[in-house]
Amino acid sequence: MTASSSIGRRGLMLVVSSPSGAGKTTLTRSLLDDPEVEVDLSVSVTTRTRRPSEVDGVHYHFIPTRQFEAMRESGQLLESAEVHGNFYGTPREPVERALAEGRDVLFDIDWQGTMQLYESARADVVSVFVLPPAIAELKSRLERRAQDSSEVISRRLENARVEIPQWSKYDYILVNEDLDRSYTTLKAILFAERARRDRMAGLAVFVDGLMSDLEA
Ligand code: 5GP
Repeated sequence: MTASSSIGRRGLMLVVSSPSGAGKTTLTRSLLDDPEVEVDLSVSVTTRTRRPSEVDGVHYHFIPTRQFEAMRESGQLLESAEVHGNFYGTPREPVERALAEGRDVLFDIDWQGTMQLYESARADVVSVFVLPPAIAELKSRLERRAQDSSEVISRRLENARVEIPQWSKYDYILVNEDLDRSYTTLKAILFAERARRDRMAGLAVFVDGLMSDLEA
């Protein structure tokens, strides 16, 4: 057993939110693909139509509204919200299992969901808000994605008016001017938060061991 595994740590919840088109998805995908990082992605349920590039069960679990409501009513969702006219929610069980096993969980959810996680587990949540460097950049990213109709794109831009002011509720802010730099900062945030004293459940016992070896 290594020293760090014997110290033990409860998993943390890394939440990344942003207005649509600020580059959040690219950042979260980079974390998942990085072999140095090791986080589980919380795969949400949604009533939104699947985009051509999306895979059911990987990007989302695409479910009908009736099933969404049944999950919400029976307490199977850790948080849920209506975003851009569709329902989204976080299945509770996989998150609770991962945290209990000391694994960190990554959430790509909006500010309404983040507030609900704060209410249930503020100490375990590390929240990051991604801002675009300029509105022109937000627009061009939405258009470049070209997976949504122009009506959907204008609705998302309209929503940015509500979403951008939510920055003040988050622990960390990334102004995503340069993707590589933003990614380095995001990874640094996660690594620093992992080393917080108050997350290390078995630290006192570990240090007692060091002290008795010192005396021996
Ligand atoms: P999209 O439709 O572009 O995949 O996501 C739209 C918005 O819904 C994004 O801001 C995304 O972070 C948010 N979202 C995705 N899954 C969830 C969820 O489970 N809960 C909440 N509250 N928001 C979500």
